[in-house]
Amino acid sequence: MRNESLNAEPVPSGKEGFKPTTSAETSRHAPGTLVDKYGRHITYIRLSITDRCDFRCTYCMAEEMTFLPREKVLSLEECLRVVRTFAGLGVSKVRITGGEPLVRRNVMWLLERIAALDGLKELVLTTNGSQLNRYAADLMSAGVKRINISLDTLRPERFKAITRIGELDKVLRGVDAVRAAGFERTKLNTVMMRGTNDDEFADLVDYAVANDLNISFIEEMPLGDVGHGRSNTYFSTEEALALLSHRFELVSTLETTGGPARYWRIPGTETRVGFISPHSHNFCDTCNRVRITAQGELYPCLGHNDAMNLLPLLRADAGDDADATLRAAIVESMGIKPKAHDFTTQLDAPKVVRFMSMTGG
Ligand code: SAM
Ligand code: SF4
Repeated sequence: MRNESLNAEPVPSGKEGFKPTTSAETSRHAPGTLVDKYGRHITYIRLSITDRCDFRCTYCMAEEMTFLPREKVLSLEECLRVVRTFAGLGVSKVRITGGEPLVRRNVMWLLERIAALDGLKELVLTTNGSQLNRYAADLMSAGVKRINISLDTLRPERFKAITRIGELDKVLRGVDAVRAAGFERTKLNTVMMRGTNDDEFADLVDYAVANDLNISFIEEMPLGDVGHGRSNTYFSTEEALALLSHRFELVSTLETTGGPARYWRIPGTETRVGFISPHSHNFCDTCNRVRITAQGELYPCLGHNDAMNLLPLLRADAGDDADATLRAAIVESMGIKPKAHDFTTQLDAPKVVRFMSMTGG
């Protein structure tokens, strides 16, 4: 038996929906683990805890955004329940993201409880850095292991132009606060944009080296209609590597964090330079993750529209069976994880209509 809604277009957020499989069917794979139909083990989730943000980055959002009404957003208790359920299914790592996760009220309440969950080994966070000056020490106390900070430029005017709102100085103070709090292996994420920040890649690497940070460069992905053709701004990993090799000796390594990035080392420094190359280097065959949006949709792939809506299950009055039903839905969602994304053919006409801030980067 297959739930037909699994093959459908994005699942609507009504209460219709999921009919659990029998326990015999859900245990087709090793019980207590998540394995998709291509044999990939899912051990990592990215949970967006808000679609809101205090920036409006040009590659991520449109200038005018309509955010979700509050009642459609998972409560912190629902977020915790989702992560607990995944942890019970063998997921050992969770990344909290958004939108900007640190603008969510009482975020520390959630982080502390997630960090304490049985079975979970790593709680990590992706942030734009705007609130880190205030929160870095609390994040450390809450049990967050590592932090990724988005930083596309070191020039204040340019930073304002890219984020439409943000102040560079505040983010740089946030980076200092993270270092002072004692976080290790903090990583910068830089989206590569031709004509916008391609003259700064080496400066960003210098900044990472000077501050003992790692840095990953990301090829821009066609997610949502942000109002510009992305083929104009696309900058490939190969070109960036060629550019950086004028200033740095880059030694390629086989190191992996289990994710899509490929890494290079700069001898004599602690800095690792990564590249996430959805266009030029497909990494889908080793994908180990799924994403959950702030409104409770489980997206097995960032690059596809198929989703399983968990919200009705989280809010249903299902009595004693509630947890089993949620668990069964998550197991069943493995059936809609596609083999690969298809970003390469859709630079200017994205088939994925969601903004990155919706799905959680
Ligand atoms: N607000 C936080 C931040 O900016 O780090 C977390 C959410 S943000 C959506 C997560 C990551 O996605 C950021 O590093 C951001 O640069 C990246 N991102 C957003 N839109 C993207 C796109 N179209 N292509 C590639 N990366 C993107
Ligand atoms: Fe906000 Fe992060 Fe998207 Fe920028 S990339 S608009 S900071 S969610």
